[in-house]
Amino acid sequence: MLDADFFRRWLVAAAASVEREADRLTELDSAIGDADHGSNLRRGFTAVTAVLDEDAPATPGAVLTLAGRQLISTVGGASGPLYGTLLRRTGKALGEEAEVTRERFAEAFAAGVAAVGQLGGAGAGDKTMLDALLPATEVLAASFDDAAEAARAGAEATVPLQARKGRASYLGERSIGHQDPGATSAALLVEALARTARNGGAA
Ligand code: ADP
Ligand code: MG
Repeated sequence: MLDADFFRRWLVAAAASVEREADRLTELDSAIGDADHGSNLRRGFTAVTAVLDEDAPATPGAVLTLAGRQLISTVGGASGPLYGTLLRRTGKALGEEAEVTRERFAEAFAAGVAAVGQLGGAGAGDKTMLDALLPATEVLAASFDDAAEAARAGAEATVPLQARKGRASYLGERSIGHQDPGATSAALLVEALARTARNGGAA
């Protein structure tokens, strides 16, 4: 079962990944965006770990909702509201339960990913974070490790795509040949989830 502490540890692990990979994320965003994706997420996830340090919510839903709110209020770029919505909607779908199964989390996460699609109007193949999140969602109920692998593969598969949403879409065909920064960071988040589960806490 997954409890509030599992989700807190996931977000702390995600923040560490973002910190480590921030320069790479910004470099990817400099090719097809405005070179701020790493700094946007670094600011957001630093604020998430700070708020979770101050206040340790008692349920998985409350941890994710609080983290999502924090991302929305601290990140100026498009990715803040999108990742914030992902976490908030996932948290809301988990309700008040003190512990959830992986299957239940997978269902809630799918609702969160659907909300990202609704907010940004993007779908599969538009060269966004959804190209990592959607394939991960499909296998999350079966295995966190498989979800991490699917997200990584999905992020890599954005290279030949032309962006149809977000800032990169302004480049038209010139967006082809570069990996999407948001899909890359989404893969980091799912990889952090798998690592957290491997390090104990996910039965
Ligand atoms: P900004 O584009 O405002 O500078 P960031 O650089 O932080 O914001 O984030 C860019 C990433 O956000 C993109 O690489 C893409 O994955 C994601 N993104 C942008 N627009 C959308 C959208 N409409 N739907 C889903 N993801 C999007
Ligand atoms: Mg940007």
